[in-house]
Amino acid sequence: MQLSNFSIRSKLIGLVMILALGIIVASGLAFCFSYQDTLNGKKEQIRSVIQASANQISALRNQQQSGQISQHEYQQRLRDLIYTVGYGEEGYLYLIENNQLLLHPRLPQLEGQAISELPEQMRPNLILSGLDELFRRSAGQHFWNIYWPRPEGGRSIEKLTYMQQIQGSDLVLGTGIYLDDLYPIYLQRALSYLGLTLFILISALISAILIARNIVRPVKALSEQMGQLAHGDIDQEIRFTHHRDEIGKIARAMDHFRDHLLENKRLRYVQEHVQFLENFDPVTRLYNRHAIGEALEREIIRNFDTQEKVYFLFIRLDLLRNLTIELGDEQRDEILVETANRLRLLLSVNHRLARLSEGSFGLILINKPDDLKLEQLAQSILETMQQPIKLGNLQIQIGARIGVTSFPEDGDQQFELIGRAEIAAKAARKREQNWLCYNQIRDQEAHQRLELWQDLSTALEQDQFHLVFQPLFDLNHNTPLSAETLLRWNHPRLGPISPAVFVPLAEQSGLISSLDYWVLSAVARQCRHWINKQLCFPRIAVNLSGISFLRSDFEQRLTEIFRRYQVPLWHLELELTEGVLIEDLTHIQEKLKRVRATGVSISIDDFGTGYSSLSRIKNLPVDHIKIDRSFVEDLDSNPQDLKIVQAIILMAHGLQLKVVAEGVETEQQLSILREAQCDIVQGFLLSKPLAVEQFESLIDEDLIIEGA
Ligand code: C2E
Ligand code: CA
Ligand code: CA
Repeated sequence: MQLSNFSIRSKLIGLVMILALGIIVASGLAFCFSYQDTLNGKKEQIRSVIQASANQISALRNQQQSGQISQHEYQQRLRDLIYTVGYGEEGYLYLIENNQLLLHPRLPQLEGQAISELPEQMRPNLILSGLDELFRRSAGQHFWNIYWPRPEGGRSIEKLTYMQQIQGSDLVLGTGIYLDDLYPIYLQRALSYLGLTLFILISALISAILIARNIVRPVKALSEQMGQLAHGDIDQEIRFTHHRDEIGKIARAMDHFRDHLLENKRLRYVQEHVQFLENFDPVTRLYNRHAIGEALEREIIRNFDTQEKVYFLFIRLDLLRNLTIELGDEQRDEILVETANRLRLLLSVNHRLARLSEGSFGLILINKPDDLKLEQLAQSILETMQQPIKLGNLQIQIGARIGVTSFPEDGDQQFELIGRAEIAAKAARKREQNWLCYNQIRDQEAHQRLELWQDLSTALEQDQFHLVFQPLFDLNHNTPLSAETLLRWNHPRLGPISPAVFVPLAEQSGLISSLDYWVLSAVARQCRHWINKQLCFPRIAVNLSGISFLRSDFEQRLTEIFRRYQVPLWHLELELTEGVLIEDLTHIQEKLKRVRATGVSISIDDFGTGYSSLSRIKNLPVDHIKIDRSFVEDLDSNPQDLKIVQAIILMAHGLQLKVVAEGVETEQQLSILREAQCDIVQGFLLSKPLAVEQFESLIDEDLIIEGA
């Protein structure tokens, strides 16, 4: 049966029609059967009336024969009996004796006449043949149908006639009913059947309308809404969700579905926004640091074989931060937009321009200029920027410094070229020069680096390293959650040297793994010491170079170190930079799984500066992400950084990751981070990196607070 092409409404109407037809057929059948029933009932009534009268007549005859009553009295009583017995409205009895009409209450004038002499219209022949039939039958009773006029005369009509012989006599009791007389009864029944049928039909119709209102309307409305949802119109509220029946269930399921769509839409918006922010600066609509880094990388790859020069210019605005404090965000943005527009006008379309940070722009020169052209370009950039900018009634003049690097001399990685150009720009400012090429400061640096490089190999043996600990605080409870271990090198001649300087050197010289294992051993030893002292210390985070992490025997060596000191590995967290994650996805997934299986937690350090995105991290088993310090630094002055931080937190929470903000230095940054629902904070505002003793007294204090 194919009904699915019809709407629910037509199906319901069809059902009602079938029901109505059923009712009509059933009532028609019932009416036919009831006709037969009435006739049988009438026959039964006739039989019992005649039987009762026959019994009375027999009794009268006995009385007369036994002499209890006279002949006259007998006749009198017989007459009274026949004249008074009746049934129904018209029913009467008559008595025949020896083919003679003896008593007839409706035709007394014919009493005494022989049947054969009765008038022709009374059908004497039929009566006689009926009597013959009766006497021939042993039962002595007989029904038959004849056409007979009514006693009052008129045309012959069908009459059901009954005769019964009274036992032991020649008396025959007769009666009959004209079938016409049954018609009013049928009519009455027919009318009541019709009425009942109509009543049921109307009830069925009313129910159909009610059902239509209760089912068809909501189903129709919901199916329309579903269609609208499918076409992306998800703002309208779903109706009928308060219904407690199946419609309500469907509506609530749709509402759930709509919630999902809304959530998806919101996430898509955030994603698109993050994607935009991943590559563009929303204020100037120029590329951002990430995008220009990629463009620079592409240029380096393109020129790698020929080793043709690629220049990078780091343009650093003077005094913009101070101006911002005085002018406010809007005017600062105006200055940036104006500066960006001037640079755009000045440059050929082939050059790639980007806004790198709050007050700096970056430029890749694609058509490699010779040195003279480079100088001209730098001069004209500086001159254009020095032109006063009109801000309402104010005239503002901004200066700039330019740092220049070039591939391949100053590096063959984008971050080297950008970082070194920034160093050159800063150096230019220090030396009060307008622009400076990195190679002018490189030689001096290179010399220092070479010295350090040589010293580094002996530093480990001579025990020149030690660790400091910087606590990380839970933003909700202000309690130390963990502590980051930071390596310190106390150079015998140069004094303390920053890991930012010696870690890259160690990475280049192949010493980094020894350094990393030294740190891990020192941490394990320190933990054992605290456990022995029964100090309750938080989780300890260790910065690990990707080189060490990716070595195939890393998990094994890590477990060995901690087993040696009998320290459980859940005390340890590893901080990995995004660079590690660029590795083949399945490989890194497996590696992270194996390392985490030892009990260690994983943090992604310096998040936002490298290539990886949250969409990549989504597929990796990590616990925390640490938003890079550079985003936190300008949080209170740079709306773009604020937006990025907010988006990172929102999306990280969507992936069930906790977010750490590092480098928190001001109360304002802290309150912005709290508002953005950042989970964990680290920075000089809360605590500087602490020597072991100071760190111990901090966690001891915390214990006392907890115990109080
Ligand atoms: P990182 O992992 O981003 O570490 C945080 C750095 O930010 C530390 O510098 C820390 O002292 C500094 N810092 C913390 N809070 C603030 C703040 O509020 N303001 C400012 N301005 N700075 C803050 P540090 O100790 O000089 O370390 C520099 C980098 O050296 C580290 O950056 C890390 O990448 C690397 N490093 C440090 N220790 C180790 C180590 O044991 N092994 C390896 N492989 N790398 C290490
Ligand atoms: Ca770190
Ligand atoms: Ca970091």
